[in-house]
Formats: sequence, structure tokens, C-alpha cells
Amino acid sequence: MDITVDPKLTSFIEVDAQSHFPIQNLPYGVFKPESSAPARVGVAIGDYVLDLSVLAQQGLLKCKHADAKQIFAAPHLNDFMALGQPAWRAVRGTLSDLLQTDNPTLRDNTQLRAQALILQNDVQMQLPVTIGDYTDFYSSKEHASNVGLMFRGQENPLLPNWTHMPVAYHGRASSVVVSGTNFLHPHGQVLPPDTEQPVYAPSQGMDFELEMGFLLGAGNQAGEPIPVDQAEQHIFGMVLVNDWSARDIQRWEYVPLGPFLSKSFCTTISPWVVSLDALAPFKVDAVAQDPQPLAYLQEKKRQTYDINLEVALRSPHMHSGEVICRSNFRYLYWTVAQQLAHHTVAGCNTNVGDLMASGTISGKEKHERGCLLELTWGGKEVVHLSNGEERRFLLDGDEIIMMGWCQAEGYRVGFGDAHGTMLAHSA
Ligand code: MN
Repeated sequence: MDITVDPKLTSFIEVDAQSHFPIQNLPYGVFKPESSAPARVGVAIGDYVLDLSVLAQQGLLKCKHADAKQIFAAPHLNDFMALGQPAWRAVRGTLSDLLQTDNPTLRDNTQLRAQALILQNDVQMQLPVTIGDYTDFYSSKEHASNVGLMFRGQENPLLPNWTHMPVAYHGRASSVVVSGTNFLHPHGQVLPPDTEQPVYAPSQGMDFELEMGFLLGAGNQAGEPIPVDQAEQHIFGMVLVNDWSARDIQRWEYVPLGPFLSKSFCTTISPWVVSLDALAPFKVDAVAQDPQPLAYLQEKKRQTYDINLEVALRSPHMHSGEVICRSNFRYLYWTVAQQLAHHTVAGCNTNVGDLMASGTISGKEKHERGCLLELTWGGKEVVHLSNGEERRFLLDGDEIIMMGWCQAEGYRVGFGDAHGTMLAHSA
């Protein structure tokens, strides 16, 4: 077994059983210790961020063939990601070792601890990666079927191509933001019900989409597709994704080329990037596929990850969020490996820092539907909140909080949260 995920490992940093950040996780992020300080790379451990730029400065963290001091003082993870999987594993091994209960190097160095360990509550998390391209897949059969039923009717809820390929569209990287960034209620072109003339108006169909995404640590050259069984070696890690959507704008604009403005005003990701090595103990078989896909999408071992997902809504009248959806990453029909293999099969090149999101992750049960469009069946039903409020779609001031974690015996390996609030335009 990979020593860094050994369930028996403990750190001298106290980690609560409910914490998402035990020593088995060690997710990467970018943070500023205070607003005027330069951003640098850190790792989450318990309630703390471990400042990797300080460790590199002290010579405790090295990268083969690269200057660790520069790499971990950068305001993004891209330089580290570009070093490739052997370097990610070496650094992860060093960090795991440094944080272990019986290692005195950092534990007993009071001065270094004060410099390198900062409470997460006291830092400002930044967008962890400079994202070049953002692609959004559509990989949940339950979600695609539900949306198809609502948008196209009983006859063809799933289009004929859906079971043969991981369908996707190209999103906007420019509007991907880190958790905690708010956005203005989008206005756009919509076709009011039972009319033939579109109007320009605030969206009346504001929604979230519960998704996860992976970030590429190694791309491919144009014309050199990534084979499905090698795809995971290209993936640096995963994040939570809220692909905010304006359903009325989407409904009017999406034929024939797919979503455009309805999904490009804001996409929220969690600040911590969890490596596939940390997720490895939570691998499970992926759902069986019927029909069998074409050869380039067939995996020798078809696996995915057991990641619990939750969505909470907090209205301006509530102190904390209330859970309105519980789902799981393992429900997806298409795996990350199939998504990446398909993305590159016609010759598309990809780059370090590209973000590829899963599409809304819905399950079979009603409470597992990963967006309001499904939860309220297109606004026909309401979501009841315990304070008496109701929602068909989001209202100004609503905050959506997404959480994701893998449950182990006595500890969790998690993503923290991805939250954001939709703000009213000031008059
Ligand atoms: Mn989406």
C-alpha cells in the first residue's frame, strides 16, 4: 500500500474525525496569509494550512530538476503540476513524513511551526490553478435523462449519442472562480412562456449544478490522443464544482450548439485540490455500461471514486445552510478516464491546468437530484426549507454550499466546501 494513505498514520497536528484534512489527504491550494502578502502554495492539515514556500525556503522540500523555492512561492499550482506524477508523489511523501506524529523536524521547531502553520480561518484562499481551458461533460445518466424528459419530452429523453460517448461542451475558463466569490444575478435573452418574442430580463431560472472536476497535470500534443488506461496519470487532482446555470436563458439558446451565456457568468470551484493518490483508497467499481462503448473508451479496470456529495442552501434569512441534495460521485456513467480519452481522441491537445467537469451528478432517488431544475421538476414543484421558505429557483442573496468527502474508518478525506452567493444588481 502507498504509505501516505495508511489508515494508521497520525499527525502531531490534531485532526478531528469530522475534518476533511487528515494526514492521509494533504490537498494542495494557493493562499495569502494576509491580503497584502503574495500568494503561495499550501497544503491543508486539520484546521491549518502548511506553507510550502516556507518549507522550501528552509530546504525541507525539494523538487528534482526544479527550484522548489520558486515553485511553491508561485501564485498558482501550475508549475508544480507541470513536473508530473513522480514529482507530485515525491513531494507528497516528504509532506506526509514531515507531518507524522513521531517526526520531530517540524514538530519540535517552535519557530518554524509559527512561520509555516497558519490557521485556515486566518488566510485568504485563491484560485488554485491558472485554468487555460474549461470543458463541461454531461456524464450522469440520471441527470441527462431528467433534463431530456423536461426539455424534449417522453419520446427521446436521452439522445442516441449519449450512451456511446461522454457528451460535453466547451465552457469559459475566464469565469471560473474560487469558493467564496459572489456573482451578480445574470440578465439575458429569454423566451417567456407562450410567447414568440424574446425579451432581455433577469433570469427567473437561476440554478446550481452539483459537479466535480479534474485538473490536468500533464497534457497531450495535438494529434496524440491519451489512451483511456493511461488517462489517470495525467490528472493532478480533483475539486468540487458548482456550474451555476440560468435555465430560462439555457432553454432559449441551447439549440443547436449547446449552452453559452446560461453557464458562462460564473463557475465556482473548491480551493483545495485533492490528489488521485489521496482518493485511491476510495476506488469502487463504476456502473456497468450498456451498450459497450467503442474500443477507445473501454477500460481494462473500470473504476471510479466513492465521494459523498451534499448541497446546502442558505437564504438571507437563515444562519446556516440546509441540505437539499445528497449524491455521490460514483453514480456517474462515464469515468474521468473515459472523459479525457474521448476529449483527445479526435486530435485535441490539452494543457497543464485545464479543468474538466463531470456535469451535474444526480442519483436515482429524488433527494439525489443535483440541481433545482430536477429537484423542482422545472419549477413545477417547490423545495421546502425548514423556516417556511420555498424555492423553485434561486433568489437574490441565496448562498449555495457544496461539500464532498470520502468516509474512511474514523476519518474523512474531503474537499472542504465550494460556496458562493448570488447578489442582486444595485438599482
Ligand atoms: Mn454543467
